[in-house]
Amino acid sequence: MNYSGAFIPTLREVPADAVIASHRLMFRAGLLRKLANGLFAYLPLGLRSFRKVEQIIREEMDAIGALEIKPTVVVPGELWKESGRWDSMGESMLRVKNRLDNDFVVSPTAEEAFTAIVRDELSSYRQLPLALYQINTKFRDEIRPRYGVMRGREFVMKDAYSWHTDDKSLDDTYQAMGRAYRRIFKRCGLSVIPVKADSGAMGGSGSEEFMVESEIGDNTLILCKKCDYAANSEKAACAPDFTPSSSIEDAKAAAVNTPAFEKIDTPNVKTIDELCAFLKTEPQTFIKTLIYRAVNVELDLSSAPACAKLQRKKPSAEAPAVYTEAFFAVAIRGDLDVNEVKLASALKASEVSLASDTDVVRLTNTPVGFAGPVGLTALPLIVDRTVTGMNDAVTGALEKDLHYKHVAYGRDFTAWMIEDVRTVKAGDHCSLCSGELYTKMGNELGHIFKLGYKYTRSMNVSYLDENGKSQMPIMGCYGIGVDRTLASVIEEHHDEAGIIWPVSVAPYHVIIVPIKYDGAVKESADKLATELTSAGIEVLLDDRSERPGVKFNDADLTGIPWRVVIGDKGLAQNIPQVEIKRRSEKDSTMTDLDKASADIVKKIREEIARLNN
Ligand code: ATP
Ligand code: MG
Repeated sequence: MNYSGAFIPTLREVPADAVIASHRLMFRAGLLRKLANGLFAYLPLGLRSFRKVEQIIREEMDAIGALEIKPTVVVPGELWKESGRWDSMGESMLRVKNRLDNDFVVSPTAEEAFTAIVRDELSSYRQLPLALYQINTKFRDEIRPRYGVMRGREFVMKDAYSWHTDDKSLDDTYQAMGRAYRRIFKRCGLSVIPVKADSGAMGGSGSEEFMVESEIGDNTLILCKKCDYAANSEKAACAPDFTPSSSIEDAKAAAVNTPAFEKIDTPNVKTIDELCAFLKTEPQTFIKTLIYRAVNVELDLSSAPACAKLQRKKPSAEAPAVYTEAFFAVAIRGDLDVNEVKLASALKASEVSLASDTDVVRLTNTPVGFAGPVGLTALPLIVDRTVTGMNDAVTGALEKDLHYKHVAYGRDFTAWMIEDVRTVKAGDHCSLCSGELYTKMGNELGHIFKLGYKYTRSMNVSYLDENGKSQMPIMGCYGIGVDRTLASVIEEHHDEAGIIWPVSVAPYHVIIVPIKYDGAVKESADKLATELTSAGIEVLLDDRSERPGVKFNDADLTGIPWRVVIGDKGLAQNIPQVEIKRRSEKDSTMTDLDKASADIVKKIREEIARLNN
């Protein structure tokens, strides 16, 4: 490709809203332009790299036997109503109506569409396992699109879905996907941190996220200094820093020397800090009780105390009931925070949030700030594991300006459910090896997930097993953001002058810079370009009549991995010479013009091989 015929509008100015390197450089190097907030157009150079990331993903998906299909981006709203997500997806999902007033969804993800396609074709166990994927447009009306294509509104995702007859088969595909993801990111030149998205302590292997370290990352990763434990803080577990009771008897025995609990006057004292100051003690001695509202709860609440629950129609006979709204009390040690993602997952809820003051007063019959577990009958009580080790605590007394002291778990109150819902922090200890935990900020590039029967059940998917009996397949899903992966490559590979593409995803492998595109220089440059091109190397030939300095700056900015400079001086040597420079290195070398193309081809092949292995 000749530069003069290309469309590479480089910029000296940085867009005002571009605060991270990839965002700045994608604009400055002429890869991208903005159409509106969260909506971006890839220009030719950007699209070349984008397609390379897609192709790497495609090759690795194909290599593990996943099959590419191309569904539509706009799908019938009916499918989302069947799965129950029409109601639960909220406002990030773009819904449209056609002229006949039918509902449609602009896919934010595609479990429904894929499941519907497979449902119509699946009849026998012989068709399973099956893994299908697409590399296709998604739309999410993100509240705050930011950092360029890192969080756009329209973006491209590779999403794969698989169906299986049993857990073992699902696990095989899940593991193969995990290995494919590691290869994909390595081939793109990325260092990813795979994190267990469910707690490693439970030996869970149902969800893994692929993160890149990033100051602007939305995820806090919890890592162990001693072993390779890595988890998203949304799910991380830690070693207990308390002695839990294994049973109610155990808890009662531990409280044998605790005096009976008694009321204490705590006028105008509501917060833990105020209580600590008032009682001259530490937050660890308190049990704080928080009231939560949960939405779309799939947990069986038939044994729970009334908690303002509304039951939605079951989608099918075997499906669990879904409660559109339910309230819970959560008791946790005073120095800890409740992790709402862990809580939501324990409650099988789509979302949890602190109940409003009005709801707290209505449900506990107490002003805000005085809730406590003793005598709380109106709500199911979730007890964080830490509390099961507390046998002489201070709690709210469910009355204004009153607290209880000498409260013991097991003796004075029990749990409706015991769960680990604490937020793990830096300085806590690893549940696997007791090493100290620390944190890093990370950005999620991909996610693999065992879905279970969620969609095959709600959307009535079945097949006949070896005995002719109808069965429901189990599912997995696997996503990678193509745009975010590309932007992350630039985050990891750049300097002050511009991008430094790994050769695997570079828009061109080589840029040839003739000092002056004329005479013998032009002849040699054209010949070298032809030789390289015929060896399968992608060449950008800077034939512009710009000053060499301008050409060098653009070559650095656009980040083409290899630069060949051809000038009169080099060609005038006994053996004509050209200068070869790797974008990632400072120094250049002089090479015989004759040997230049063979030399470059070898180096590029070596680099690709290194990334591929
Ligand atoms: P996030 O927490 O960052 O919003 P997510 O959990 O919603 O991500 P998934 O639904 O698992 O993401 O989608 C799979 C992949 O799609 C993500 O790992 C990410 O790479 C990409 N992705 C998701 N949302 C966006 C977005 N708004 N812009 C660009 N890529 C995105
Ligand atoms: Mg999201």
